[in-house]
Amino acid sequence: MSFDESCIFCKIVRKQAPASIIYEDESVVAFLDIRPLNIGHTLIIPKAHYVDIFETPESELSNVCKVSKRISLAVKKATRADGISIIQQNGKAAGQDVFHFHVHVVPRFEGQKLPGFGELKEVERAKLDEVAKRIRQEQ
Ligand code: AMP
Ligand code: ZN
Repeated sequence: MSFDESCIFCKIVRKQAPASIIYEDESVVAFLDIRPLNIGHTLIIPKAHYVDIFETPESELSNVCKVSKRISLAVKKATRADGISIIQQNGKAAGQDVFHFHVHVVPRFEGQKLPGFGELKEVERAKLDEVAKRIRQEQ
C-alpha cells in the first residue's frame, strides 16, 4: 500500500498521529476533521496514499464513495442536521491543503452559512472524541 512519510493522513492511517475515528475497513478510514466547518464534519480517505482524484484508482474512489454515504447518514442522525454537503477539493487552486485524497462530509443547518476553511479553529481532542462516539453509535 502506498505511503508518504510526510503525509499527516498516512500517519493517521498507521495510528502514528491522533484521530477521532468513526469508521475503518481494509481500504478506507473516516475520522473527524480537526478544524470542522460544523460539529460532526468528517473526512473519508483511502488508506493508500493518492494525492487527488486524478491519481486515485476508480475502485478506491468507489470504496470511499460507499463509506461517504454510510457516514453521511450517521452524521445527519447524530447532529440532527437538515442536510449534508459533500466537498472534495483537488489542487491548491481548488483549496486542497492536505495532499492525500479525501472527501468532506459536512452537516448543514437551515439558514446557516458556512465559514471559509481559512477561518476555522482546532477543536480539542476530548470534544472530537465525544462527537465521534455519538456518530459511531448511529451507524
Ligand atoms: P482540504 O482543504 O480539502 O485539503 O482539507 C483538509 C482538511 O484536513 C482541513 O479541513 C483540515 O482541517 C483537516 N485536517 C488537517 N490535519 C488534520 C488532522 N491531523 N486531523 C484531522 N483533520 C485534519
Ligand atoms: Zn497520505
